[in-house]
Amino acid sequence: MAGLTHPNLVVLTGAGLSAESGVPTFRGSDGLWEGYRVEEVASPGAFKQTPELVHRFYNMRRASLKEVQPNAAHHALVRLEKEWPGSFLHVTQNVDDLNERAGAKKLLHMHGELKKVRCTGCRAVFTWEEDLDKYTPCPECRVTGTLRPDIVWFGEMPYYIEEITRALETVDIFICIGTSGVVYPAAGFARLAVEKGASRLIEINLEATEITSHFTEQRHGAASVEVPRLVGQLLSELA
Ligand code: NAD
Repeated sequence: MAGLTHPNLVVLTGAGLSAESGVPTFRGSDGLWEGYRVEEVASPGAFKQTPELVHRFYNMRRASLKEVQPNAAHHALVRLEKEWPGSFLHVTQNVDDLNERAGAKKLLHMHGELKKVRCTGCRAVFTWEEDLDKYTPCPECRVTGTLRPDIVWFGEMPYYIEEITRALETVDIFICIGTSGVVYPAAGFARLAVEKGASRLIEINLEATEITSHFTEQRHGAASVEVPRLVGQLLSELA
């Protein structure tokens, strides 16, 4: 980053970041997501038709967070957040809590969080650790059948788009880790970063993706190895 002492950095992460912690990624080879078809469990229509199934799926995913731990890639990103001299924003598509358990603070969950639920009636949002079903009353308005996982399902508008777009307006370095680049709008951020003048775009993934052509550097390998390596390099380049 010749000439820039405080470059602005935006990091976009996807399911590949948490894969080595034991959280399954989205696109399995069988086309199923943890044994389910995506449209059965991750759409507003599915929740309307079969809320029991949707609750069961998210209860299982929420409970399985107790079995996993942040990996070296989550920890390295927190090191980068703490030591980076310019502005730093980590945008994650992940709904697990592994980044915050590693200590992340400058983090936006654009697709929601497994450990949050919200009421479709009174709109209150709650931190939620336990199971949920269609008989669970909303702690705020006491109505039953209105609580849902605070997850952005297919066809719904992701969170924090304004903040993310603002950060991309002035981004110098854009880093993309463990995302297949097929879920929009996140898949469009790399192109937007190019249009806004980012001079360095780095992709870390096991393989080339749909959006690889936007990046100035591709690093193929496991996030737990490549992210700590990249963070070490970026911080030493500034030293
Ligand atoms: P995806 O499953 O479509 O793609 C995962 C990507 O990660 C792939 O390109 C794969 O090659 C790469 N990858 C897998 N293991 C890796 C590793 N060890 N190191 C580096 N790269 C690795 O995931 P996505 O692009 O994030 O989109 C999926 C959607 O599903 C998102 O909307 C997200 O909300 C949701 N999701 C979240 C989680 C989670 O919270 N951990 C898990 C699964 C799905």
